[in-house]
Amino acid sequence: METSVEKLTSLIHGARRIVVFSGAGISTESGIPDFRGPGGVWEKFDPNEFHIDRFLASEESRRRYWQRTTQFYAEIASAKPNAAHRAVVNLEKLGRLSAVITQNVDGLHQIAGNSPERVIELHGTSRFVACMNCGDRHPREVFQELVTAEGEAPPCEKCGGLMKPATVSFGQQLPQEALERAALETEQCDLYLVIGSSLVVYPAAGFPLLAVQKGVPLAIINHQETPHDPHAAVVVRETAGEVLPPIVDGIAAEEPVPVPPLPS
Ligand code: ZN
Repeated sequence: METSVEKLTSLIHGARRIVVFSGAGISTESGIPDFRGPGGVWEKFDPNEFHIDRFLASEESRRRYWQRTTQFYAEIASAKPNAAHRAVVNLEKLGRLSAVITQNVDGLHQIAGNSPERVIELHGTSRFVACMNCGDRHPREVFQELVTAEGEAPPCEKCGGLMKPATVSFGQQLPQEALERAALETEQCDLYLVIGSSLVVYPAAGFPLLAVQKGVPLAIINHQETPHDPHAAVVVRETAGEVLPPIVDGIAAEEPVPVPPLPS
């Protein structure tokens, strides 16, 4: 009988327009703990501290927010992409990847080498800060130097508005443009490859189901069970950084195909 890895291999080899949908599990191999998992952020901190209403409430609560996120940002800033991220980059180089839809805010797909325009960040990014009023953005790396140890962050230099990490906080809407692009890519792909997501956080977790409704085969690489496993063509319960690279390397031996164009 065919093993799950063999099944995954034939699905990936047969696909020409793959969407990778990634979650925290792809970054744990880079040393970034899953916020929701054991040892994760939400065991140490109250998620309410990060609610947008709390951020907006007072100077004092904003100082606390910046102090805490500065701690997380330091972990993310020092993290390096791992073998799974690099395998996804190689899928793009081989012309098999149309988009990466990610729930992660760590920016590791782009740092690994995926084209930024192919990476759709559903929950924003901690690599940038943005003005909540005019949307002006700056690299977090630069802005972070201006945040004091007490958590005092300067206002927007253009309009004086409040600056905040460009992540989607609790209580904030997901960016509409990212949702629309993700839906379009999901409808147009020929393989939906979930890597390291427990598929419980909505609306993000709805995209793999949309793929299934469109008749796209769903492949899941995740250590834990997910609610979408019954809909999947294959479920692989192994480490993506170990399973994916040999599969993708195997494609390199095949005939190259042109990079699929971005949908207009
Ligand atoms: Zn502004």
